[in-house]
Amino acid sequence: MLYYSTNLKAKPISFPEALIKGLAEDGGLYLPEKIPVLSPYDLNSLQDLDYRGIAFTIASKFLRNEIPSEKLKALIDDAYNYEVPLEKVKPKRYVMRLDQGPTASFKDFAARLMGRLMQYYLGLKNEQMLILTATSGDTGSAIANAFYGLDNIKVVVLYPEKEVTARQRKQMTTLGKNIEIMSLEGKFDDCQALAKKAFADPALVHLKLSSANSINIGRLLPQTMYYFYAWSRLCQKGEKVIFSVPSGNFGDLMGGLIAKQMGLPVHKFVVATNANDEFPLYYESGEYHVISPSRNCISSAMNVGHPSNVARLIALYDGVMDEKGIIHKPADMNKMHQDMFAISIDDKETEATILSAWKDEGLLLEPHGAVAWAGLKSYLARHPEDEEIMCVSLETAHPAKFPEKINELLGIDPALPPSLEGIEQKPEFITPLRHEYKDFAAYLLKHYGEAESGAPEKDGM
Ligand SMILES: *Cc1c(COP(=O)(O)O)cnc(C)c1O
Repeated sequence: MLYYSTNLKAKPISFPEALIKGLAEDGGLYLPEKIPVLSPYDLNSLQDLDYRGIAFTIASKFLRNEIPSEKLKALIDDAYNYEVPLEKVKPKRYVMRLDQGPTASFKDFAARLMGRLMQYYLGLKNEQMLILTATSGDTGSAIANAFYGLDNIKVVVLYPEKEVTARQRKQMTTLGKNIEIMSLEGKFDDCQALAKKAFADPALVHLKLSSANSINIGRLLPQTMYYFYAWSRLCQKGEKVIFSVPSGNFGDLMGGLIAKQMGLPVHKFVVATNANDEFPLYYESGEYHVISPSRNCISSAMNVGHPSNVARLIALYDGVMDEKGIIHKPADMNKMHQDMFAISIDDKETEATILSAWKDEGLLLEPHGAVAWAGLKSYLARHPEDEEIMCVSLETAHPAKFPEKINELLGIDPALPPSLEGIEQKPEFITPLRHEYKDFAAYLLKHYGEAESGAPEKDGM
């Protein structure tokens, strides 16, 4: 099975190559040339499997010839060692809580399996890789936790000293081992600028830098699995389901759309964005306009002006869009309207939803999950004929990650999930970094330039 670039210029490559490469050299994103389909028998047998069993069944469809079965099974069992609760709000209305992983965010699902697959392929060739990522908070901790303790991979995360919360910082800095966290006196954009310079620096090529960012094909596959899981727990044979997906960079939604093409009986995807409404406007008009800069909303992980995965989405609907958001071949809008309903939910409605869900339905939501829940409500209000269809709204972060907002709106303090308990007391390891690129490059060369040299000695703080 080969993977092609959405810009159609780079040559198609295998899964392991696309996984290590990330972005195609023509600036496009990789997608499978042919999406495997589950037979009705396969689908119905998912009901007898647990989450890991389902994850393995789905992954095998893509990776059958790329990794031995027992190995794949072991990686999946190691990645998914936590629960995936489906909370019943009322008959036919459920919330899937994707917040039980180590960083209490749905990004754990993708990052943990991607990291283990990368480790496997690097190990085969005895190669090393250095993941370099700039973060404004959540991505860095998901990557750092997902790659923690893996062989052949080291991780350097850059964060702006004053722009991340203490809780976000501690999710990264308390790890150690193969994870190095560097604080920069500056803004997120400064961190990103340093990382970008490093990726383009010929003097650092031998460090095998990779960004492991959200456009990697290795993140997409794991994001198809929980859709199958939800359906298998809640639906009868052939029964259709509506999913509501809180969307920022559209990786989560892409996972769902691929699951549908694999044969999952989905009636509709509600695509719910915050005030960054580039996609909902395109969905209405067929015309695409990039938002820049992105708009700041309380669902901060969804503050994406131009979602990069929209290029993949348009490819699934037979169109072509480049990395700048320019459409070279229009997508099949009719088909898109059949499969999806797109809506933008602003902060005011998000807050009102957190409040009403708690007061009227006993449902505790944080801002991202509230965007999806509000989107689902809007959809059902416009489509009363779908009242009897099973609906699952995705909750992508744990409410305890937003203590101030929840307390302000609801007057309660949500309990920390087990994965984040005890983090306050752990020692932190931070490497302070000056703003100069040459200091940063020299540091990387000194500490990561030789294959044998491990991570540097760390000072507890
Ligand atoms: C990243 C993120 C999202 C958005 O997911 P995309 O795949 O980028 O659309 C939603 N909620 C939370 C909590 C996230 O961290």
